[in-house]
Amino acid sequence: EVTVSFPGEPRIFTVSNQKGGVGKTTSAVNLASALAGLGAKVLVVDLDPQGNASTALSITHTADTPSVYDVLINELPFADIVQSSPESPNLFCAPSTIHLAGAEIELVSQVAREFRLRRALETYLHENAMDVVIIDCPPSLGLLTINAFTAASEVLIPIQAEYYALEGLSQLLGNIQMIQKHLNPELQLTTILLTMFDARTRLSQQVAEEVRHHFPEQVLDAVIPRSVRVSEAPSFGQTVIAYDATSAGAIAYREAAVEIARRGEQSSQNKEQ
Ligand code: ADP
Ligand code: MG
Repeated sequence: EVTVSFPGEPRIFTVSNQKGGVGKTTSAVNLASALAGLGAKVLVVDLDPQGNASTALSITHTADTPSVYDVLINELPFADIVQSSPESPNLFCAPSTIHLAGAEIELVSQVAREFRLRRALETYLHENAMDVVIIDCPPSLGLLTINAFTAASEVLIPIQAEYYALEGLSQLLGNIQMIQKHLNPELQLTTILLTMFDARTRLSQQVAEEVRHHFPEQVLDAVIPRSVRVSEAPSFGQTVIAYDATSAGAIAYREAAVEIARRGEQSSQNKEQ
């Protein structure tokens, strides 16, 4: 049994990478479930119109479901859209619906368009004690992703340990710097997670080495193996943590969650000194 605590302010992660299919959503929901299993109260904010995070957490997200769209565009309070996931009493989700696809355009004409998620989330967190918030981003740098960057304190980048893994990474880092400079000076790239790792291939090893070389502080020791169980789980409305707790993927995501929690304990100790 691992014991970790979640002291201090809620940690707000945005899971970002403008490449699609690198494991953003999979990592968001599995880390969320694993952290909930460690005792954290966790909120997943599904900011991708595809709604894959909502699906994986068994959260209703039909077109008429109150969703992040209503928060961003109609100023509905967050509390009115948050649902609890059947997976854990500690796990909550703000669903996305198909309407979110239009929000990218609709936001353009809104007041404080870059900060609407941040404002709504601040109010919610004031009244609801969450330990961790994980925002699942769409694969683009539009206003939805910018809203995630301004709302977050930490960026978590999943990197697929395959061809072209590092392609686009410098652009992402540039975007983070731009956000830090102009919109959210508190934002930090704290966490990099290698996903879909295949220990049998030289390529996966090479990508891992290169990423660790460039980001020694950020890369988690745990790597997520490529595993059919991980990809099957969402079709059962589950994370792999619930679907097959003893599978390699579940174990790896739990290890990653423990590392993330330990880093949080450490940095909150450093702040106190
Ligand atoms: P993104 O959100 O970045 O677009 P996803 O998390 O949706 O990426 O993952 C893309 C695809 O890869 C999905 O079909 C998912 O099930 C699959 N996948 C993600 N992680 C793994 C893994 N560790 N092993 C096998 N398949 C995975
Ligand atoms: Mg996704």
